[in-house]
Amino acid sequence: MSTTIHHFIGGESSAGASGRTSPVLNPNTGQTQAEVVLASVDDVHAAIAVAQQAQPAWAALNPQRRVRVIMEWIRLIHANLDSLARTLSLEHGKTLADAKGDILRGVDVLEFCLGAPHQFKGEYSSQVGSGIDTFSLRQPLGVVAGITPFNFPAMIPLWKAGPALACGNAFVLKPSERDPSVPVRLAELFIEAGGPAGVFNVVHGDKQAVDALLDSDVIKAVGFVGSTPIAKYIYERCAATGKRAQCFGGAKNHAIVLPDADIDATADALVGAAYGSAGERCMALSVVVPVGEETADRLRDALVARIPSLTVGHSLDPEADYGPLVSADSLARVRRLIAEGEDQGAELVVDGRGIDTSSSSFDGDGLSGGFFAGPTLFDRVEASMSIYTEEIFGPVLCMVRADTLEEAIAYPNDNAYGNGVAIFTSHGGAARDFLTNVNVGMVGINVPIPVPIAYHTFGGWKASGFGDLNQHGPDSFRFYTKTKTVTTRWPDETSAGPEFTIPVMS
Ligand code: NAD
Repeated sequence: MSTTIHHFIGGESSAGASGRTSPVLNPNTGQTQAEVVLASVDDVHAAIAVAQQAQPAWAALNPQRRVRVIMEWIRLIHANLDSLARTLSLEHGKTLADAKGDILRGVDVLEFCLGAPHQFKGEYSSQVGSGIDTFSLRQPLGVVAGITPFNFPAMIPLWKAGPALACGNAFVLKPSERDPSVPVRLAELFIEAGGPAGVFNVVHGDKQAVDALLDSDVIKAVGFVGSTPIAKYIYERCAATGKRAQCFGGAKNHAIVLPDADIDATADALVGAAYGSAGERCMALSVVVPVGEETADRLRDALVARIPSLTVGHSLDPEADYGPLVSADSLARVRRLIAEGEDQGAELVVDGRGIDTSSSSFDGDGLSGGFFAGPTLFDRVEASMSIYTEEIFGPVLCMVRADTLEEAIAYPNDNAYGNGVAIFTSHGGAARDFLTNVNVGMVGINVPIPVPIAYHTFGGWKASGFGDLNQHGPDSFRFYTKTKTVTTRWPDETSAGPEFTIPVMS
């Protein structure tokens, strides 16, 4: 019998009242493994009301007490790491090792949040006028929401929840309905760690639930991560309803390879970054731009030599380098784009559509219905082709040939997206010019997936990010708090009577 994944509201499991559900698949097999309830507007309002009631007491706790809850939360996540990773792997399709990485990169941000009291302790200026002092303090916003994608079901909810909660907000999470179990488990662990009921709630749902969050007067900020059209929609709707928003969208990440790069090391890096997690990472490399025909030929040979050794399999199979895509729709999109690339004149060097799992099985699971795509390599791709313009979000690497570094940099600079970019070279000056001039938010120098560590900030440019503050790092504490600036003067004997002009410093 299929299990049902419920909302988590006020510290308790809640079936909600909508009566609507959506299947949660095991992408290895294509079989439905659970149903997740989808919230009605009333269900979302119930979660918001509970959060609104719980928030003032949470905000009134001194900040080090709040972060002690987070400290215990981290311990509990580590204690439950194996079971969380297994659940995540079976709903998302990423390998067990990668699922642990998903959780641990979220925990990194929780660890950074342990220093939150220092981050928002405010500023003080003494004697800004005669007997006058000014100070500013940062206060929580109230109830805030996170709306998160399927591809990092632990990391991204933790990137939102950790800083929001550390700052004294109550949090309502609307995770992806495709892999909803781990976000609920993380919220349960927060309560087990001593977090008050109602401070961290999870509602599942689709557009109806999202719109209820966006239209609520109680929700003061929305942190979104997902595809660009939805990011833009949410940013615009938040602006219309007077909410603070940071909305991170899709990507098309380029790697530039210069003739002096170590080709073997570069090919290793590209294979991992293009095909790891089946290419379902917003920082996956999907375009490689070698400079010069000779560099391109050497790199292509090195890639072609490596691809056959990759193992695509069940996400729990320790031998698998990567597992299935998340859904039949994702597989259909990847296959469509490969066909379009071929039709539009790109050279299909390795075709991942030929992968055959019809007679494969792992641990009793037959893989014939799984959403598997093999590693795919295109050469001689052009900027007008749909494999270049669209986000494929699958294990497909496109090679675009350039004659000069200037021509190569123009590709990421002119691209609509600006999430991540990398350059492979041993020339410091070229790398320096590149990082200065490239129009992209996160840059790797001989690093293929430059996801910043928790104490720096994460955010893309152009169609990859809407809003002025990035995720995690010091920006997150600014996003989840508002500044109050106070000017004080205490009564003394020197009052000069009423003043009718604006005071200026002389
Ligand atoms: P998605 O946009 O389909 O969904 C993201 C969230 O929005 C989910 O919670 C979903 O339920 C909700 N949603 C979907 N359709 C909606 C609608 N019409 N109205 C309101 N809400 C809606 O994204 P996804 O497929 O879950 O995730 C993959 C995408 O996320 C890729 O484009 C990837 O590049 C991007 N991503 C970006 C980053 C980043 O930091 N820039 C990180 C991870 C993923």
